[in-house]
Amino acid sequence: MNAAKRLEIFRRLHEDNPEPRTELAYTTPFELLIAVILSAQATDVGVNKATARLFPVANTPQAVLALGVDGLSEYIRTIGLYNSKARNVIETCRLLIERHAGEVPQTREALEALPGVGRKTANVVLNTAFRQLTMAVDTHIFRVSNRTGIAPGKNVLEVERKLLKFVPRDYLLDAHHWLILHGRYVCQARKPRCGSCRIEDLCEYKAKTSDD
Ligand code: SF4
Repeated sequence: MNAAKRLEIFRRLHEDNPEPRTELAYTTPFELLIAVILSAQATDVGVNKATARLFPVANTPQAVLALGVDGLSEYIRTIGLYNSKARNVIETCRLLIERHAGEVPQTREALEALPGVGRKTANVVLNTAFRQLTMAVDTHIFRVSNRTGIAPGKNVLEVERKLLKFVPRDYLLDAHHWLILHGRYVCQARKPRCGSCRIEDLCEYKAKTSDD
């Protein structure tokens, strides 16, 4: 895909949604970090239901740590893998207090040293909470990047590097949200809705559908 096409794709995505936001509910970097840890292999809607009960009771590392694994599990047991997530969250809270004075660190290295925090989670927190130019590649972004030709790659790291290189600079900060939303609601995994896709004329996918 050439640079002019990429620019026009992001121009349109921006035009349709000038201020894209994550669909995870949060009000502080700590709440976002916890929500993203909980969201692995779970839906944002499911995570939001759990955190809507949890955060009014505990939304600091100290308060969540005080709940303990069993207490936290009571709030998140509707989310897949809640047992291991509860252990990771409690240990993360302990480390945030011990190493970072209860604050969420703003570097990839420090974030990835926390249990349950991998490259993707670190990228989401750095980008969404701290407005750094990172690119979290999830299943939606991986699919959309490959199908359209915006940033084709064999694995998430390759796609991440290409997106960082090829997405026009002015759109890089929010590209992650636009691509997720596009994958979630339009360029869906089983049946892309090419018939009602805003970037259909620019997309290079060979098996486009007429569905809308
Ligand atoms: S035209 Fe189809 S394949 Fe291409 S981005 Fe749109 S929905 Fe996805």
